Amino acid sequence: MAWEEYVRGLTRFIGDETARLGIERTVSHYEEDIKNIIMEYPETINLAKEVRRIREESLSQNMYLLDKLESRCKSLGIGFYLAHDGDEALKYISDILGKDGSIVKSKSMVSEEIGLRQYLEDMGYEVWETDLGEFIIQLARDKPMHIVTPSIHYSKERVAKLFSQVFKRDFDPDDIDGLVRFFSSFIRRKYFESDYGVIGSNSVGVEEPASLLIHNEGNITLTYNTPDNLVILTDVFKLVPTVKEAIKIALVTSRYAGYRVAGYYDIIYYKSLIERGKNINLVILDNGRRNILLDKDFYEAALCIKCGACMYKCTIYQLVGGVFGGPAYPSGIGVIITSFIYGLENLAPSLYTCLLDGRCVEACPVDIDIPSMIVKLRSKYIHNVRNRM
Ligand code: SF4
Repeated sequence: MAWEEYVRGLTRFIGDETARLGIERTVSHYEEDIKNIIMEYPETINLAKEVRRIREESLSQNMYLLDKLESRCKSLGIGFYLAHDGDEALKYISDILGKDGSIVKSKSMVSEEIGLRQYLEDMGYEVWETDLGEFIIQLARDKPMHIVTPSIHYSKERVAKLFSQVFKRDFDPDDIDGLVRFFSSFIRRKYFESDYGVIGSNSVGVEEPASLLIHNEGNITLTYNTPDNLVILTDVFKLVPTVKEAIKIALVTSRYAGYRVAGYYDIIYYKSLIERGKNINLVILDNGRRNILLDKDFYEAALCIKCGACMYKCTIYQLVGGVFGGPAYPSGIGVIITSFIYGLENLAPSLYTCLLDGRCVEACPVDIDIPSMIVKLRSKYIHNVRNRM
């Protein structure tokens, strides 16, 4: 991203009072919520330490887990594809879907990373986001500003105005239940009319292949249960040996995302879906991730469980939301991860926005030292610039 474009994005966001109000409202609740949750469930701190260990061990045998998952999936009759980059993933998914059709899709950061919805819409598919936050982003043709709460920058007033414009009727911003009810009945029809469901995964257990998903609206359950065909799109870092480990990660992720207990924790055993006659394809995206594993300076970034806690605490994020960070993954951790996907050059403006104040490290359940990696990335960037001179 060019420096000028980045500065324009920052200025636009700072001048957008409604967007800032949306972020302020969420952030102000978050700190209090997380403090209370940890006080109520003090065992979460030790569980988070265990989760770090699980992630380290899983990543150290990443290739082995991938091979094992591939052979287990193939023996179940599941299509398995390891996509080296976003283009490969998009091509594979469009081959699966065929010429046309309608799709219900649940929230997935990997799908944001590769621009899946936009790609499918451009190809003529009817695609509907089933998560309310993502649905708002879809209607507004905007980009998510947080990995857990994508429409964090949308106040209720802005959502009511958007719905009124799109659906040509009046919505009252103070009647949040009415807005949600309207969305639920609109999207419910789409589940039954759609040919394909597309979901992501918070973790994937390999021994008995299964995806674990955390959600609050029940939408994911309908996305994988209703259409006959299912595409599961996830990334190479999500693999863990067993579902038991995936459950521990899910618990820590949801608590640090600010939920005592999330609305739903779905364990989707692929075998049981196959037995019910579903057609399943699993697409695993690399997109530069295994280069992170090979780089001892940045390896820690691979431990991220995508809880979003560091973003709520980040001084810069609180001011400019997801303008700071990488495409799809905001904030400091987003800069690090996406520099391996989109190239360091494109992330340089965000790299130099970080204050290195360490508030993100205090928030992180798995103790990722984001500022140290930002400093190393800056050295790497300067080194690259000097070499070009
Ligand atoms: S870096 Fe830590 S706090 Fe931030 S999203 Fe990842 S696990 Fe959560």
